[in-house]
Amino acid sequence: MSEMHQFLFDGLPVRGQLVRLTESWQEILHRRAENAETGAYPLSVQVLLGEMTAAATLMQALLKFDGDLVLQIFGNGPLKLAVVEVKADLSLRSTAKTIGAVQEGATLTQMVNVNNQGKCAITLDPKSRFPGQQPYQGVVPLFDDLGNPIDQISEVLEHYMLQSEQLDTKLILAANDKVAAGLLVQRMPVQGEGNLSAKSTQADEDQIGVNEDFKRIAMLAATLTSEELLSLEPDAILHRLFWDEPLMRYEPLKGSNAPRFVCSCSKERVSQMILGLGQEEAQSILSEMPNIEVGCEFCGRQYVFDAIDAAQIFTPPVVKPPVVPPEHLH
Ligand SMILES: [Zn+2]
Repeated sequence: MSEMHQFLFDGLPVRGQLVRLTESWQEILHRRAENAETGAYPLSVQVLLGEMTAAATLMQALLKFDGDLVLQIFGNGPLKLAVVEVKADLSLRSTAKTIGAVQEGATLTQMVNVNNQGKCAITLDPKSRFPGQQPYQGVVPLFDDLGNPIDQISEVLEHYMLQSEQLDTKLILAANDKVAAGLLVQRMPVQGEGNLSAKSTQADEDQIGVNEDFKRIAMLAATLTSEELLSLEPDAILHRLFWDEPLMRYEPLKGSNAPRFVCSCSKERVSQMILGLGQEEAQSILSEMPNIEVGCEFCGRQYVFDAIDAAQIFTPPVVKPPVVPPEHLH
């Protein structure tokens, strides 16, 4: 089962999180693989999207943002867009759009940053916005300060958090077809909780790259291999890395509190959409194709309606007496 572990180091200005997505990640891959139009993700896209899904979940749990956190990358190359959405309750969904073939072993640069114009955007969309309020969005390029393309999404996000929060962050990410996992350690803000949309202080900026406790713990974190992150239980990982540090753990988020896959699409919703097209349009599609196929753009799940399904949509339900609006009842 998917789980999220949060911890800090007693007396040290360092906090951390470890996420392990299993059935939620497998559901994302399953929906895509079942889609006859797109088929499964190419391996390189699968790894990248899994790493992004783990990273976005870590960031949402860290920020405790009361709204949607959306992490996306887009640019030029065969991968047009990869996007992850994580809600305040850690329900999540993710998808990627490819155009053309993605070579096996393709790097981030080859997939989405061919001419160094690729971008990574993080959007925080509050649950309740006051009139005129825009979601907060931060955008970073997929290259470093010298203009060299960055090939690890973890490095792009470390860069992002340094820029937006003035906080040193170490991020280790990995994904395969069963697990998407990530470990994050971060220097804590000098004052308060720190938040992507909050103003960073000069004191935080002054601490960049100099805090010895963070540097030591980040170096320990960096020894974690992808294979360990994907195969070891969280307890084993934390012990292996931090056995000699004053680790203090919170109650893990498991079961119904754990990160989980949720998409609001359903066969009923798609039926409503087809109903909206009108019977004539639906018949016209079915005169050219055996089925009406509608893919959810947020999760890739494909809904297929054959002629009989479509006919049912347009068959009026059992006739009920007309409902008289209350204002006409006198
Ligand atoms: Zn969906």
